[in-house]
Amino acid sequence: MTGFSDASLRERAAKVVPGGMYGHLNAALHGDAYPQFFVRGEGARQWDADGREYVDLMCSWGPMIVGHRNPRVEAAAAAQQALGDCLNGPGPVMVELAELLVDLIPSADWAMFSKNGTDATTQALMVARAATGRTKALVAHGAYHGADPWCTPGLSGTTPNQRADTVEFTYNDLASAEAAAEEAGDVAAILVTPFKHDSFEDQEFAEADFARGLRALADRIGAALVIDDVRAGWRLDLRGSWEPFGVRPDLTAWSKAMANGFPIAAVTGVDALRGPAQTLYSTGSFWFSATAMAAAKATIEILRETDGPALMERAGTRLREGLAAQAASHGFAIKQTGPVSIPWLSFADDPTLDKGMRWAAACLSEGVYLHPWHNWFLSTAHTDEEIDRALLGTDAAFAKLRAAFGAD
Ligand code: PMP
Repeated sequence: MTGFSDASLRERAAKVVPGGMYGHLNAALHGDAYPQFFVRGEGARQWDADGREYVDLMCSWGPMIVGHRNPRVEAAAAAQQALGDCLNGPGPVMVELAELLVDLIPSADWAMFSKNGTDATTQALMVARAATGRTKALVAHGAYHGADPWCTPGLSGTTPNQRADTVEFTYNDLASAEAAAEEAGDVAAILVTPFKHDSFEDQEFAEADFARGLRALADRIGAALVIDDVRAGWRLDLRGSWEPFGVRPDLTAWSKAMANGFPIAAVTGVDALRGPAQTLYSTGSFWFSATAMAAAKATIEILRETDGPALMERAGTRLREGLAAQAASHGFAIKQTGPVSIPWLSFADDPTLDKGMRWAAACLSEGVYLHPWHNWFLSTAHTDEEIDRALLGTDAAFAKLRAAFGAD
């Protein structure tokens, strides 16, 4: 009917795309059971190229936050698209979106726009360097800040020089950050994610003393504190993910969920960095396209009006409690870590993630798309009914795993 299948697309892609697919969306990294190609999304569901339907607990790795094809976001984007998307300059919507961010985010006195999270973290670092005249970026070991040479976790195609100014500390270990700052000397920025969400590992909340200590350290050494809210942003606290700690960054990088899947990123910053930000030559052919900005405005307005983070917290709590009960009833010891709306599940005594991979594959075959080594994401489209549908699949997957491993 469709004229293609996941297998046939893979075969064709292998001839015309390096490796058939590359980067984090390469299905080969996720386990044999994972489909590579997807054709449709609606609400909390996605369909792969073989027509299989899933309750989507990955939300396209974060961008989807108010449901696939959310009618209000689609209408706002379509209205702008009908007028023009990529014009000779930004549309009025850029000003409206910047005003919305400045109104919503206490640490934002201005906003600059781009396309991807990597653009935003790199641009934030450039602002910090322009402001301080210094070079070094302090980052937590294992943290992902993007795919540019200064931060990509893979070194292929990078030069040692491009990495020389990136210095590491240990997340939640303030003394290690202080020592790294001391050793580096020339620190322009401390970049930090709001919680530790490294791949292949249990997630870890930031300790309040660590968050406050980094703020104090940045102030003491005259560096910029940059929160990389690309992954967590818009799900935990619309004002910024460390606002509950009372920790306000100098700069914040935003992207992923900002426009419900339309491509856009932003850096927001404090007044003192407005001048340095203005000095950057930082731009891109598609950075000021108006459609994604209209989608961002609609997405953020929906999240604000409906208290999106509270809705996702409710969905996440239902999922977490359901999974805990299921694991116990099937006799598995599991760990559920991170915020409930950006959850992850791992099995105790599973250092190779073998159990987790098998369970995730079983979930897939039961119509639930989640991930064996990367955190998942929920959206406001995850109603009680959608979570309950997901839990039916996860329960069957635990049963399959129990059958495979035999009784304890
Ligand atoms: N920072 C964080 C915390 C991220 O999770 C990501 C993307 N996974 C990025 C930066 C880079 O964003 P992008 O892939 O849009 O360039």
